Amino acid sequence: MTVVTRFAPSPTWYVHIWSLRTVLYNYLFAKKHSGKFMLRIEDTDRTRYVEWSVENMLGVLANMWLIPDEWPNNPWDLWPYFQSERLDIYKKYIEQLVQEDKAYYCFCSSERLDELRKEQTELGLPTKYDKKCRYLSLEEIKEKLASGVPYTVRLKVPENKEVVFDDVIKWKVKVMSKDVDEQVLLKSDWFPTYHLANVVDDHLMWVTHVIRWDEWTPSTPKHILLYEAFWWKPPVFAHIPLLLGTDKKKLSKRTWDVAVEAYIEKWYLSEAIINYIALLGWNPKTTEEFFSMNELIERFELEQVHKAWAVFDVERLNFFNSYYLKNSSTDYLYDKLCNYLAKYSPEFLEKIKTFSDDYNKKVLWELKTKIKKFDEFEENTRFLYWEANIPAKDLLLNEKMKVESIGIAKIALELALDVVSSNSDFSNIDEVRDIFIEKIKNAWLKNWQVLWPVRCALSWEQYSPWALELIYILGNQKSSERLEKILKEI
Ligand code: GLU
Repeated sequence: MTVVTRFAPSPTWYVHIWSLRTVLYNYLFAKKHSGKFMLRIEDTDRTRYVEWSVENMLGVLANMWLIPDEWPNNPWDLWPYFQSERLDIYKKYIEQLVQEDKAYYCFCSSERLDELRKEQTELGLPTKYDKKCRYLSLEEIKEKLASGVPYTVRLKVPENKEVVFDDVIKWKVKVMSKDVDEQVLLKSDWFPTYHLANVVDDHLMWVTHVIRWDEWTPSTPKHILLYEAFWWKPPVFAHIPLLLGTDKKKLSKRTWDVAVEAYIEKWYLSEAIINYIALLGWNPKTTEEFFSMNELIERFELEQVHKAWAVFDVERLNFFNSYYLKNSSTDYLYDKLCNYLAKYSPEFLEKIKTFSDDYNKKVLWELKTKIKKFDEFEENTRFLYWEANIPAKDLLLNEKMKVESIGIAKIALELALDVVSSNSDFSNIDEVRDIFIEKIKNAWLKNWQVLWPVRCALSWEQYSPWALELIYILGNQKSSERLEKILKEI
């Protein structure tokens, strides 16, 4: 049996962080078992349909390297993947259920249903349909149909039946059929409800494992009843736990920071997002934290997904992103950085392209160990692309670093100027370090006494890369110019 999993979103917004986790778990599970992962669009609720969201979703999945094996409008389309294009299929199954007396027409108006819900709520009862139309006679039904009374179709829930299913992640779920609402399967606009379309499609598309988030657990008994009504074998169910914010509250559905897009925009690396998201609820049973996609595929087990909720914490995501920035090659990151700037900061890209790629890569080589994400690159490197200002004299002085007077600062800057003007460009940072350490030692100075003022003179920033890294990045000529400029001023 080929494992088939699916992600079946309703296209109503951007892709949420928790949806990305659902996609990821479906993807990992399918790949681990050499199976198939598909994307199906559940767009039967036309009032909530947002047109751009499917394209957006495909973009996000591609960005995260979670490419489905089948998706809407793929070149070898086996069937329509938009539920709105499958209405005839659902109609056929609805008719089958009605004929077999497993579903019935309901002619109750929305006013009556509202009233019923209100009464039940006031009495503190669970809100459920009271089965009024279940017992209509054939004549009554015929008459209402003939006179065009709008109707829905509801599932006939068998009486006194225990509905049971085994959830891989949670536990055995048991519900008595008397507690299951006789849900609508076909709405009065002739669109199926989520429940019917979802079950029919999972069956027809040979889905073997339904991995979805916990919010759908209460609906699953309804789905089981539908599988039984059709005499179909249900898939294996795995409901993954909710994601909470750091305040332990459910993440809000519509704020920008729950959209995966928000993190793509800030240019978190997809490998960092995937690694972090994978661990939100899945315990790899090792102290190891960093996993490539292939390692995730190899290790992922549905049984190791927690039952309890998980917390989404941006600080942890930053931690993973820093790790991947630090450990990725500068060439790889440089391409990504340029793409990022082209989209979000074209003027800055234009500016850095007036410098050589070699220079830019040196800047990135240094910065990738300092920044947590690409959107911090620009603000931290402006002084490397625009002419530095003259530092305030106070910035040069630093008691802790034993730079207590301008006299000492001057000696330090002269020493640095001497080194950079009498050498050609250094080919690596170790070379810069060796020469400087030697020089400083011979001058009977402390390292910091020299490196602090040099750093300030080269960057005019209190926080910047260290002096030797700056010299290596800027090159000797630019470093000389900056040192000379300040020496003239003090
Ligand atoms: N359309 C449902 C949703 O967007 C799918 C739930 C499921 O995976 O069955 O959450």
